[in-house]
Order: sequence, then structure tokens, then C-alpha cells
Amino acid sequence: MAENLEGGCACGAVRYRLASPPMFVHCCHCRDCQRQTGSAFVLNALIEADRVALLSGDVKEITVPTESGRGQKIYRCASCEIAVWSVYGGIDKLRFVRVGTLDDPAALTPDVHIYVRSKLPWVKLPEGVPAFDAYYDSKTLWPAASLERRRAIFG
Ligand SMILES: [Zn+2]
Ligand SMILES: [Zn+2]
Repeated sequence: MAENLEGGCACGAVRYRLASPPMFVHCCHCRDCQRQTGSAFVLNALIEADRVALLSGDVKEITVPTESGRGQKIYRCASCEIAVWSVYGGIDKLRFVRVGTLDDPAALTPDVHIYVRSKLPWVKLPEGVPAFDAYYDSKTLWPAASLERRRAIFG
């Protein structure tokens, strides 16, 4: 499994380290993620907030609307404004770390592809990785150890 799970922003001010591998990794093809990244999808590593150590720099948050109405808080480097992680629905204990900001983005691969109903047509999904038109049921898909970690967050 992944060893060096450190990352940072473009200007170098923000540096962070994940204390462990994430619980699960999403590749999200929804329109919101496409718009926010200016790309075809986003890669999010879902991990407990207390396992993300901010080593240097300052992050600032900005809230953007989501379909659920609960909003997404995007955390950006205060200097170069590169987004490094997000919090959805006000669940601050759970972070969605942007895998592309890792020093080695190949260290984590998607466990699931979601919102493939808006996947760009030229993106070919790998065989053997679950894919869903919209969201999915984490209870049936996550490994037991990750579900255990999730329960510790949500009680
Ligand atoms: Zn920066
Ligand atoms: Zn999305």
C-alpha cells in the first residue's frame, strides 16, 4: 500500500501528510466536480480529518453549492488558491483529499467510479472497478476495516 502520502499546493506553501491510507477513494464524474476542477473528474481520498496533518502553510475555505443543498467546503492554499481537500455536508470529521495534490498521485487508485451518467464519453473506465450512475451504498462496497473507521467518525 501507499507509503509516501504527502502532498501540497502549487506554490509550495501548503504541505500536508496523510497519517494512513484513506478509507476509500472516489473517482467522481459529476458535473460539479468537472466544473470545479476544469477537468473530466475528480479523485478524492476519503479520510478522517485527524489523519490529515497540515505541515505548513494556511488553508482558507470557501463554500460552494451542491445538489444536496448542504454545500461543499473547499479548502484552498491561502496564497495560490489550489484546492487540497473538501468537506461535504458539514461533516468536518471526514475529509475528501484531492489525490492530484499528492506528491505521488499514483499512490492511490480509485475504488469506485461515481456519477458516471455524466462521465465524458472518451473516458474509458477500467474493468473490475465498480461504477455507478449516481452515488452508491458504501455499506456494501467498503472493506470492513474502512467501515469500522467510518463508524468511529459517525458514532
Ligand atoms: Zn499554495
Ligand atoms: Zn462529484
